Amino acid sequence: MIWVGILLLTVNCHSQNTKKTMKKKDEAYWKSKLTPEQYFILREKGTERPNTGKFLHHKEKGVYKCAGCGNELFTDGMKFDSHCGWPSFDQEIKGGKIKKSIDLSHGMRRVEITCANCGGHLGHLFDDGITETGMRYCVNSLSLSFEKEQVTHQTEAMKITLGAGCFWCVETIFEQLEGVLSVTSGYSGGTTENPTYKEVCTGHTGHAEVVHIEYNPNVISLEKILEVFFTVHDPTTLNRQGNDIGTQYRSAIFYHTEEQRKTAQNIIDKLNCEKVFAQPIVTEVTAFKVFYKAENYHQDYYNLNQEQPYCKMVIQPKVEKFTKKYQQLLKK
Ligand SMILES: [Zn+2]
Repeated sequence: MIWVGILLLTVNCHSQNTKKTMKKKDEAYWKSKLTPEQYFILREKGTERPNTGKFLHHKEKGVYKCAGCGNELFTDGMKFDSHCGWPSFDQEIKGGKIKKSIDLSHGMRRVEITCANCGGHLGHLFDDGITETGMRYCVNSLSLSFEKEQVTHQTEAMKITLGAGCFWCVETIFEQLEGVLSVTSGYSGGTTENPTYKEVCTGHTGHAEVVHIEYNPNVISLEKILEVFFTVHDPTTLNRQGNDIGTQYRSAIFYHTEEQRKTAQNIIDKLNCEKVFAQPIVTEVTAFKVFYKAENYHQDYYNLNQEQPYCKMVIQPKVEKFTKKYQQLLKK
């Protein structure tokens, strides 16, 4: 039941990558959109004077686009110095973005290149290139616009601390997710400082057994992490996971940012509202305060103790179910 319900929850609305097509625009449109110089080149098949274009010696990393419509035509890696006086490229971005046609003007037989999307004149294509493709796309700077490559800053890892019953099991599951950088078993949410496992097991420390997760939000979202979280444990049994009973086994999300709190609350509301579980969710959502790392022998426990009966009987079936369902989210 639970599995089917969660599937429903995650029907994403991926934006469709629709192919760009452009209706034919009239001359008034182009006159208002383009500068007179661009209009002369793109719409009247003009040619800019050699050695004058702004992209002639341009060397930044990024994508060259059609100045008329933004169609992506060339990347910086395709540009080379041809010394012909115009920006030159030895190949185009694949996908039929550039149309080629025979141009017999000026008493010559040349191949004209135009933007396949808006019909804007770009320049000509010659087979005298000096790179290994042998081709030279000779393009007017005025026909192009340039988008600089986004410098991707190393995003800071995010942290989330989750209680979902015995941490041996939870740890091994989250470790397998692509984008999860580290998972540490420990204790959180209680009052005793530096508790031992024995103390936590008494239920008197107030701590829950948790996994402290570091993840790269560019690779895996908190939504996905919480989806897995709600799938691999029962969030409806108060202070209990199966035969593990006590506040230390409570279902809990210790959020590190307000954004995470909202996300967690939204997901819980949605699961409750859609009655994904037969009973209401009792997961505690609390601001993170402190995390105490569990004793070393608890770290990576499942992987190191797979033959142990608890691992075989309780953890292994959960892990197998998880890996089957979340194949596409696993580390390669
Ligand atoms: Zn175009």
